[in-house]
Amino acid sequence: MRAWRTPPCLTSLRHSDLQKRQNSASANTNYFIKEALKELEYPQKLQRLLLTPQREVLVELVITKDNGEIETFNAYRVQHDDSRGPYKGGLRYHPKVDLDDVRSLASLMTWKTAVMDIPFGGAKGGISVDPKLLSERELEKLTRKLVQAIKDTIGPQVDIPAPDVGSNASVMAWFFDEYSKFSGFSPGVVTGKPVHLHGSYGREAATGRGTVFATREMLKATGAGSITDKKFVIQGFGNVGSWAAEIFEEHGGKVIAVSDAFGAVYNENGLDIKALRRHIADGDLLSAFSEGEAIDKDTILSIPCDVLVPAAIEGVINADTAGQVDAKYVVEAANGPTTPEGDKILRERGIVVLPDIYTNGGGVTVSFFEWVQNLQNFRWEEEEVNKRLDLKMTEAFAQIWEISRQKKLPLRTAAFVKALQSVTRAHLHRGFD
Ligand code: GLU
Repeated sequence: MRAWRTPPCLTSLRHSDLQKRQNSASANTNYFIKEALKELEYPQKLQRLLLTPQREVLVELVITKDNGEIETFNAYRVQHDDSRGPYKGGLRYHPKVDLDDVRSLASLMTWKTAVMDIPFGGAKGGISVDPKLLSERELEKLTRKLVQAIKDTIGPQVDIPAPDVGSNASVMAWFFDEYSKFSGFSPGVVTGKPVHLHGSYGREAATGRGTVFATREMLKATGAGSITDKKFVIQGFGNVGSWAAEIFEEHGGKVIAVSDAFGAVYNENGLDIKALRRHIADGDLLSAFSEGEAIDKDTILSIPCDVLVPAAIEGVINADTAGQVDAKYVVEAANGPTTPEGDKILRERGIVVLPDIYTNGGGVTVSFFEWVQNLQNFRWEEEEVNKRLDLKMTEAFAQIWEISRQKKLPLRTAAFVKALQSVTRAHLHRGFD
């Protein structure tokens, strides 16, 4: 087995964090992996290697707040697998982030990069913080502290963070700047940077755009036709949901309802998404949008539509809610939005699920393009980025669809089969001694 280059001071794991909770995020992810492993009949020890992370880093970050008080935060970086290339995955800034969540999300990144066939492994990081409660200055300090704490375990050829829920291009700019103080100019250490600071055109919209390309391929393959005039409901109106909504609309789709953490809005003829995005950017509540009807956000999953797009956080389609879904397709733009129980109910009801490890792979794919541009010291035009993204989404879908048809498997299991085969092949080629 290769050594994982673990600096001893950064690996202190709390025993309580290692104990499995029932229905934890990582248990849910592992359930789906094991379902695919049943198709592959790999030896037990190989299965263990694929299921468990290679390194888990837990650090405490301390900052002085603007009011002079000291505050501490827990932060995590889990590196799941680097057999196919450097670890890759976002940094989540959210109050509910814990080690188990990050572990699950890191594993999903390994399978996502393999499904998309980009030369990266999988990792994820996070800080247990509500970024809305911190000033910009405090967020910057916290981000710089995170870099100082994990700088020896990351790097442009080792582990490359990116934005995720609660973090954004500004956070990546601070991250790049702080890391460069220790290692010299290193734009390739993070992706999702501002376009004018070594970022890539098309990166911000990439997860949403990829979701639209993925949906287009799925509708075509299942004989449902095109996006035009299909009705979409989108849960979550952050970076992923809002871009997906806008691009669905550009493709002729009708986005009839969207929700965020505070409310939801409905218009049976289709919402004007550009106007809604302007409304939100002005600081107004989604539910106060005058060209739609405010509805209870908890009813969003049960609105009749062709395609339901969960684009927020984990576990929303579960044993309690899956029975209420009134869509023909569920397109998982979020990571882990469906629990195993929810997935079973959707399957029994004949609802096709386009899985997260493929659907939202557009984000990390354009992150890869950004990283390549950083290595080349060269910028691609947005048209080229989008064209290459389309090709990657189309190719990956064709492969998943083929496995699904040949082996008679749901698309999720087929995607995991493709990813597991690819990661396993890399491990076997590299060897273990
Ligand atoms: N956070 C995004 C994801 O979950 C992007 C990760 C990346 O670009 O590395 O896929």
